[in-house]
Amino acid sequence: MLIDTHAHLSHHQFDAQFPYLAREDESFVLHTGTRAQVIEELQAAGIGACVEPAIGFSSNRKLLALAAEYPGFVFPAVGVHPSRTYLAHTVDARGHKVVERLHWAQRKELAALVEDPAVVAIGETGLDYHLARKEQHRLRQKAWFVWQLHLAHTEQLPVILHVRKADKDALAILRRHRNWLHGGVCHCFGGGPELAAAYTDLGLKLGIGGALLEQSARLPALEEAVARTPLESILLETDAPYVKPSCPDLRAKRLRKARNTGLILPAVARRVAELKGLTTEEVARATTENAAELFGLGKI
Ligand SMILES: [Zn+2]
Repeated sequence: MLIDTHAHLSHHQFDAQFPYLAREDESFVLHTGTRAQVIEELQAAGIGACVEPAIGFSSNRKLLALAAEYPGFVFPAVGVHPSRTYLAHTVDARGHKVVERLHWAQRKELAALVEDPAVVAIGETGLDYHLARKEQHRLRQKAWFVWQLHLAHTEQLPVILHVRKADKDALAILRRHRNWLHGGVCHCFGGGPELAAAYTDLGLKLGIGGALLEQSARLPALEEAVARTPLESILLETDAPYVKPSCPDLRAKRLRKARNTGLILPAVARRVAELKGLTTEEVARATTENAAELFGLGKI
């Protein structure tokens, strides 16, 4: 059994019918279906649970509703993603594009949502500096990050971190508030061994997913980080519907339209095993235990 520790299954990209990534005979293929079909296929493929963190503020209610529909399979995390702390572009229930403006006063609403007993973590929270400087709103991002770290502390919950092009500032904040940490994961980790050690020294785990199967300039450093990081600090994840692996056998145009899913996790586990000189089963067992322990998933 494997656990997808980072999937956005309530995302509007999983509404209606859509093409999605799956595995058949050790290769990536595309299937077409609905959210319910994807979840059924995940369960049949041995994906025992998914942790779903929030992106924009309104996604919190959507994912809590999905978690209530799939208890014991979808485990929710509430929060607000750093790049959505100012504006969030999303779609409403009727599929219309909407722009949400986040207000500082909404942190009270977030604190209320955490009271849902199904909630297993706070996130995604962190810092994201990938946009042009004037669109980053760094002060807002930092204020929401520190506030969510404190919320995680008062609730004694782990954090799901999203850090993009902002490791220096994020690490400084994490170190300053080290006493507030009750474990967590640096999601979609893509750095080298030194950066990996900086996070694991804080007791945080690394979320490893599609980036490990993606041909990119950063791949050799990431492979080295995975090889050197102790297995107890590694979690498997997808960031579905995002962060697709390289799939040379699939037509680029078709792949672009497809959603990523947890069905790629066996391929990630296998690559982690190769890099660490272990069997895929050993990686599966350990990463599942790591996830169950960090998020308090009990016996799943
Ligand atoms: Zn995500």
